[in-house]
Amino acid sequence: MYDIIIIGAGCAGLTAAIYAVRAGKTALVLECESIGGQISYSPKVENYPSIKEISGMEFSDNLFTQAIGLGADFELEHVEKIIDRGDDTFDVVTDTTTRQCKRVIIASGTKHRHLGIDTEEEYAGRGVSYCTICDGAFYRDRICAIVGGGSSALQGAELLSGICEKVYLIHRRTDFRGEAALAKRLETKANVEFMLPYTVSEIGGEKTVSYCILENRETGEKKRLEVDGVFISVGQVPQNEIFADLVELDEYGYIKAGEDCRTSHPGIFAAGDCRTKAVRQLTTAAADGSVAATAAVAEI
Ligand code: NAP
Repeated sequence: MYDIIIIGAGCAGLTAAIYAVRAGKTALVLECESIGGQISYSPKVENYPSIKEISGMEFSDNLFTQAIGLGADFELEHVEKIIDRGDDTFDVVTDTTTRQCKRVIIASGTKHRHLGIDTEEEYAGRGVSYCTICDGAFYRDRICAIVGGGSSALQGAELLSGICEKVYLIHRRTDFRGEAALAKRLETKANVEFMLPYTVSEIGGEKTVSYCILENRETGEKKRLEVDGVFISVGQVPQNEIFADLVELDEYGYIKAGEDCRTSHPGIFAAGDCRTKAVRQLTTAAADGSVAATAAVAEI
């Protein structure tokens, strides 16, 4: 039996693992997608204290190596369910097996939000992408659009501007939600054109994307852009439905937990972007991981 099973290998989950094993407990981290979580898709991290600049991928690799090097176990499995065994232990059921543990830390993060327009799914992987760092290189010297006004979209536009001939940054408002410094930097790029305030109403093409139709949110005017790719970067949504029978979720699907990372269910903690919180950043994810693990360790 593990002392602690941690669901999710993002910044919160891996930090929790570091704190758990350094406190002398056994810890298993379960992840169903990529190590490092959302930050591994970030081209550049410039706001983590003491690290001036690092790629999200390198940050994730370092964190993973650190956790495993200290003794945490890791499995690439999809968690399907948590069962309270009623004896102060839990079963964590995955697509492969069931394991018992004394405490559970959910650090399941979030996944990419979709625009929800008809052809979005049809062109996914054929010109529609949710990850500039993964797919940007396929669009060398091509014309691309990126949708969104948060830091991810701004960073994505910057990355694409170094690869593509031309980049349209499409955002539904005239103000950006993302960091002002990033937006200012983009204004100086000759090959980046801001399309504000526009939404995308259609994506189309023959076999792959060749155009998108935009709609001006103030005037209703429609505009057709000839593009080879559309990157969608409109935020994240939680994926906590499988835990809803045990822990309370808020109206948006985030696990209800305060700064102490305690959920409505004793023995289950929530850390990082998956929980209710005001600021979802690497720094707050790391803070949550340490808080949740320290609290879990104290109960074992
Ligand atoms: P975000 O900050 O939530 O921004 C999402 C953007 O998408 C917003 O501008 C939003 O518009 C727009 N949007 C949402 N739904 C839309 C729809 N259906 N159609 C069109 N536009 C839509 O998401 P994010 O940029 O992915 O960032 C997530 C978190 O990670 C943030 O806290 C961010 O600060 C952080 N982050 C940090 C770094 C770093 O380097 N440390 C890098 C990237 C992100 P409105 O503004 O109108 O709502």
